[in-house]
Amino acid sequence: MSLEGKVALITGSSQGIGQGIVLRLAQEGADVVINYRSHPEGAEETLEKVKAIGGKCYMAECPHSRGHTIQADLGSVVMVRELITESIEHFGKLDILVNNAGIEKHAPFWEVTEADYDAVLNVNLKGVFFATQTFVQHLLATKRPGKVINISSVHEDLPFPNFAAYCVSKGGMKMFTRNLAVELGALGITINNVAPGAIETPINTKLLNDPEKLGALLKNIPLGRLGQPQDVASLVSFLASSNADYITGSTFFVDGGLLWNYQEQ
Ligand code: NAD
Repeated sequence: MSLEGKVALITGSSQGIGQGIVLRLAQEGADVVINYRSHPEGAEETLEKVKAIGGKCYMAECPHSRGHTIQADLGSVVMVRELITESIEHFGKLDILVNNAGIEKHAPFWEVTEADYDAVLNVNLKGVFFATQTFVQHLLATKRPGKVINISSVHEDLPFPNFAAYCVSKGGMKMFTRNLAVELGALGITINNVAPGAIETPINTKLLNDPEKLGALLKNIPLGRLGQPQDVASLVSFLASSNADYITGSTFFVDGGLLWNYQEQ
């Protein structure tokens, strides 16, 4: 297994893509920290699935359990720092940070409120910024290499009308990654973006329940289907492994070809 002996924190892993990443990294042998904000049942479900992968290993009985859940609102820098510190305290170190938590708010640009702008930017960009900073401080203090993987979106490049704040956050994430690739390269720390297209998760519930919109979207996807969390997770597990040691500062799309075939509905 390519991640044996590694410890990974995956933010926003109580459902959707984050849960898929947790399971895949655990399958590859990593010890994982599951983070949630307001959905403890989802985090518990993720934890149970991780335990199932780890066989007989249960948190209460096993000193080196394969999963640990922490509540933290990634819109709060104080909580972000606590999340990283607590993860390190639990497992003794952190090798891989997956910045997955993200939200979007629908509104025409001229109706976006300050509260909605702040909510999106705080979780999608500020939280990512300071989680990564705290992780890098830990790697510096322990003189170890590490890997940061950001879950971005095709909308780091592609306009998404009525989701201006979301596009600002993912576009910002693109430059964050390029900048840090240069700044952190000499420290042996790599950083890359994984940019999903349309993945079947709760964030897309409205779309999934609208046959007309869904049909139109599917026509835009050359591979003819929505993505699944495991489609994203398999790329994350590669980027988290030593197979990707020479890769940094890049964005990798997981979109069934959507980006090159996109037509606004
Ligand atoms: P989701 O809504 O199913 O899951 C989002 C996760 O983030 C949840 O676990 C939620 O609890 C967590 N989260 C939200 N706000 C948080 C906060 N303040 N603090 C801590 N956790 C918080 O969505 P998803 O589809 O799994 O999205 C995961 C990531 O993938 C997001 O960054 C999203 O922008 C990105 N993405 C998703 C798609 C898609 O089609 N599903 C496409 C492109 C990019």
